Amino acid sequence: MLRVGLSGGIGSGKSTVAQRFSELGAIVIDADDLARAVVAPGSDGLAAIVERFGDDVLDDDGALNRAALGALVFTDAAARRDLEGITHPRIAERTRELVASAPADAIVVHDVPLLVEKGLGPGYHMVVIVGADERTRVRRLMQHRGMAEDDVLGRIAAQAGDEERRAAADVWLDNSGTTDELRKAVDALWHDRLVPFEHNVRHGIRAERSDDLVLRPSDPTWPAQARRLLERLRVAFGDTLVTADHIGSTAVHGLVAKDVIDLQVGVAELRHADDPALLDRLARAGFPRPVDAPRGDNPKGGGTWPKRFHAAADPGRPVHLHVREVGSPGWRWALLFRDWLRADPVACAEYAAEKARLAATGVGVSAYAEAKEPWFDSIHERAGKWAEQSSWEPPRG
Ligand code: ADP
Repeated sequence: MLRVGLSGGIGSGKSTVAQRFSELGAIVIDADDLARAVVAPGSDGLAAIVERFGDDVLDDDGALNRAALGALVFTDAAARRDLEGITHPRIAERTRELVASAPADAIVVHDVPLLVEKGLGPGYHMVVIVGADERTRVRRLMQHRGMAEDDVLGRIAAQAGDEERRAAADVWLDNSGTTDELRKAVDALWHDRLVPFEHNVRHGIRAERSDDLVLRPSDPTWPAQARRLLERLRVAFGDTLVTADHIGSTAVHGLVAKDVIDLQVGVAELRHADDPALLDRLARAGFPRPVDAPRGDNPKGGGTWPKRFHAAADPGRPVHLHVREVGSPGWRWALLFRDWLRADPVACAEYAAEKARLAATGVGVSAYAEAKEPWFDSIHERAGKWAEQSSWEPPRG
């Protein structure tokens, strides 16, 4: 099963996307529908509201009078908390029931208008946001839904802005074109990414990858992508996680890199990483441990630096997750090397040149890591000296 969070500002086209997902076979759970259902006439949610707020919040036929209730909680934070204390657990329970009753191979799309505002992104395998510029949204809502301009602008102002939405979005569906174009983008996302992602999660396997080595110019969105992935890992690891960091070349601004996000999770003891319950949670969250996963790195001077390795089930976002013991040499080196490259533009340029040189030899991805070893050996001391001179300490991310 794959769980996708879908959101977007009012008028962005979120409902159009949800509709298309449903046509493609997704199980769509609409948070607004659930919010209405848990306070429908005859529900225990409505009874709890009447007990707390009195009969005045009902209209003549016994249904919830939203305007009256809204007026009561609008200026009263305690009342609002009480109301949410009634509705939120019931919505969550109903959501759990719907997810539990979905088939094992379902792609469940959670249509949640306030996903970004409530910080719910880490609970899903992927967050899809539909976006269109404000003028377009206002025009569409006035034309198609007959809303007044002031009303639309007021609602837009009360919601998260595009910057927050972009920070939360794993996938941004641009809806500045036609609905047909939007539907085509949804179809492509479904077939190219969600269907194989779900398959991989269900089977606990990593996404297929090519051995072609492609170096990309530095992507300014890599750090935000890493942040979102780390938030998901925090949920999956729970208390076992001690540190969580974005490492490797994609963590160094301006450095060319393979489009693979390297992450490091530090655990108190490496055996914690082998807990079967944790392995199961990680696989279900989309970070399985491959059967042939390396169990260590070979540092300069021999020996091994033990680690556990996981990779992404998402074919659209390659990730290498290195789990290491906090304070161990391998854990420390990953952070030191990143910080050295961040601090030293000359070193960074040398590394970029070495990557380009190797890529030009036509080496594949699997041989590339090995081929970089001599360069790593050659800079080990320099980076160590830098750490000493700058009194570098590993951050406790
Ligand atoms: P939301 O659910 O995000 O509020 P909707 O999907 O209901 O947005 O879209 C808002 C209105 O704009 C609807 O009437 C919809 O039919 C229309 N709409 C959505 N996308 C487009 C588009 N690309 N071109 C024209 N109209 C659109």
